Amino acid sequence: MNQNILLVQPKFPIPSKSLNHKDFLPIPLLKIASYHKTLNNTLHLIHGKVNVDFEPDLIYITSLFTYWQQEFWDTVNYYRTLFVDTPINVGGIYVSLFFENSEFQKKCAELNVNAIKGTVEDFEKSAPDYGLIDVDYQIIHASRGCKRHCPFCGVWKIEPDFIPKESIKDEIVKNKLVFYDNNLLANPFIEEILKELVDLKVNGRNVYSESQSGFDGRLLTLKIAKLLKKAKFIIPRIAWDGPYKDWKKIKKQINVLCKAGYKSKEISIFMIYNSDYSFEEMESKRKKCFEFGVQIADCRNRPLTQEFDNYNGNIEQTPNDYYINKEKSWTDIKVKQFRKNVRRQNICIRNNHKFHSSKLERKRIPKSDYSKIISLPKDEIKKKLPDAWWPDIDC
Ligand code: SF4
Repeated sequence: MNQNILLVQPKFPIPSKSLNHKDFLPIPLLKIASYHKTLNNTLHLIHGKVNVDFEPDLIYITSLFTYWQQEFWDTVNYYRTLFVDTPINVGGIYVSLFFENSEFQKKCAELNVNAIKGTVEDFEKSAPDYGLIDVDYQIIHASRGCKRHCPFCGVWKIEPDFIPKESIKDEIVKNKLVFYDNNLLANPFIEEILKELVDLKVNGRNVYSESQSGFDGRLLTLKIAKLLKKAKFIIPRIAWDGPYKDWKKIKKQINVLCKAGYKSKEISIFMIYNSDYSFEEMESKRKKCFEFGVQIADCRNRPLTQEFDNYNGNIEQTPNDYYINKEKSWTDIKVKQFRKNVRRQNICIRNNHKFHSSKLERKRIPKSDYSKIISLPKDEIKKKLPDAWWPDIDC
């Protein structure tokens, strides 16, 4: 029987230009769409609360981070009010992490929605239906889950089994791939998978890849790094979750990538801040990255149980607005200062500049003038550019 299936991605607080950003694509909904197409159903993918002009037979609503649950529940409420009797299935990250929470289950019962925890085999077997969205890249999973159990991570709670694939080449339909694997290099078939990508062409053109998560540097050998380069993996990222004293290990991992042919400024180091290490220790890690000549992909920590996040980088805020790790002496000022420092440092790395200033960033200073300015003593530079900031000096 032909049924109308409504797939809903709530309107999360992301800029509208990022709606189809590779970090926010509703892949589970696209897989559900593929599955329902095999049953001859008609699919409608919508974003946010829309006054749809048909009566759906079944509704799926996805969730994302726990701190965006308000947007999720607003959306569920909206469609429940609009379609009082239509079955509604809800799933995704927040739903899976809060599945056992009694308050969560109570809300589901009140709104008469069916919560789905983790992945569903029938959906997982279906390739995402890219016909429903307009993107030039493809999300791919060469594995699900992760073998490690890092305490701050929800992956092993949502996907407790590590399930690697032996091959992915038959799934590839686009020239840009974004791997959503949580720990791509932990796949025992990673060499075979990378070899599949080396000479792969789609529509007669090369295929380029990137990994959304950082590579687990402990698994990064020179052989793998060379294969990543040959497989045309761009902007490789390594995670530095541990303390400053691990810097020698990180340096080794960066060296492996450089030996494989990557330039240091193409490499990023994933770092979580407002977390287990103080602002001062994070600053030491940041400066070490400047010394290594690599960029930083910084991630502000929000615990897995966090229920809101109203962070605004432009105003003064308190823990009532967003999570601030007071145990490690983080404050609103320190959180914003670290973010600002990382941003300015990354600009210096990308442009081979020794210091940052907004005029330099906006290219208001010709290259020839920069060469002259940089030879001046720092206090002279400060006179010319009062906001000049050096990544390797304490502010
Ligand atoms: S290695 Fe990464 S994905 Fe795996 S548990 Fe740790 S943080 Fe999560």
